[in-house]
Amino acid sequence: MKCSICGDKAVTRIPYAKLLLCKNHFIEFLIKKVERTIKRYGLTSRNSLIVVGVSGGKDSMTLLDVLKELMLKNREFRILAVHIDLGIPGYSNELREVVIKYCNESDIPLLVLDLKELVGASLPELSKRASRPPCSVCGIVKRFLLNAVAIECGADAIATGHNADDICMYALKSFLLQDYISLSKLVPRTKPVKGAVPRIRPLYEVYERETTLYAMLKNVPFVRMQCPYTPKKSLDNQLKELINNLEDLYPSTKIAFLRNLAKNINTIENSAPFIPISTCSVCGLVASGNICAFCRITKRVLGIAMGEQVRNRIRDYCRGILSRISKN
Ligand code: SF4
Ligand code: ZN
Ligand code: ZN
Repeated sequence: MKCSICGDKAVTRIPYAKLLLCKNHFIEFLIKKVERTIKRYGLTSRNSLIVVGVSGGKDSMTLLDVLKELMLKNREFRILAVHIDLGIPGYSNELREVVIKYCNESDIPLLVLDLKELVGASLPELSKRASRPPCSVCGIVKRFLLNAVAIECGADAIATGHNADDICMYALKSFLLQDYISLSKLVPRTKPVKGAVPRIRPLYEVYERETTLYAMLKNVPFVRMQCPYTPKKSLDNQLKELINNLEDLYPSTKIAFLRNLAKNINTIENSAPFIPISTCSVCGLVASGNICAFCRITKRVLGIAMGEQVRNRIRDYCRGILSRISKN
């Protein structure tokens, strides 16, 4: 198999683009694909500051590396990596080390938030004391902390490493469950609301196997171990398998599906029940009632709604790190 561009040994086939690519041309292909996604959906604006949520897994590490490459190439935006240490024994330390090492070596400004240090309890402790599944508490914590950093740093967007497979799967699941509220949020860039910074998904059209291959070929470090709380047999996995089977039969199914989803998002929004968005009376960040989910869960478990306190700590961290972020 030879690369369709240079004739060197091909390392992969991209059926939907009818291409065989060598290592260098695959890396170039993926970076260009993300660059086109950013332009197509208007994900960044000139000189914007992007907070990048980095767990240390393959998707977020690939996202960070690609954004770093684009930042160096175009000088159109700046990035701040944020890692949240959830305190999961035998797992979180490894993730934290990989992210710190990579950011140091790549000279990317990084903010590490340690959940136990911030609220006095790790994710397993919070979830146990709240009698709620770890993944649901994890979602609340991550959303709150990333948003708080973005607000306090004056960032323009929060980039997350969701890939095309993830988004297709969430979309199909939301449709099956007739959950139009979740479906309407599966856009490349969410709308700005008071107390929340828009989220962007630069890997919107990048397939999961492509993020893994990119990290491996480019020697971007990532943790292969799965979180111990990853559900073993879930509807999510079954749906991903179904979508991959369809993609094998009809290459580009995922991209066509996601582009249609983004195009029809206004119609989907109109089908979703109206939920008034307000701001939390404790911390001032976005909430769907009087108090946000983070303040609610910390009040229930720790006896005090900790949103404001945590936000103040983050404000101090941000002051320190902002001076390190180069101005374009
Ligand atoms: Fe969080 Fe669940 Fe993912 Fe683990 S599997 S990182 S607890 S969402
Ligand atoms: Zn080539
Ligand atoms: Zn709050």
